[in-house]
Amino acid sequence: MSTPASHDQERLLARLTGPLGPEISCEECFEQLDRYVEAELAGADADATVPGMRAHLEGCSACAEDRESLHALLVSDDGRDVSGA
Ligand SMILES: [Zn+2]
Repeated sequence: MSTPASHDQERLLARLTGPLGPEISCEECFEQLDRYVEAELAGADADATVPGMRAHLEGCSACAEDRESLHALLVSDDGRDVSGA
């Protein structure tokens, strides 16, 4: 009896590209973070704006912290009147 290796690979691939969508890398996360947080603050569907971001943030505490600080920064910016004229 032999195990069909290709079947295992298919299952592994299905897990990697599973229903949650592809998870992005830290580099992509960093590039898309503003868009993601801005979408969140705008009440838009941030997960649809940057697919894979949420999955990445759940698994990567470093990027999750970046998101927290950017979020706080944008919120405090927003609370202030910066029209400045
Ligand atoms: Zn990351």
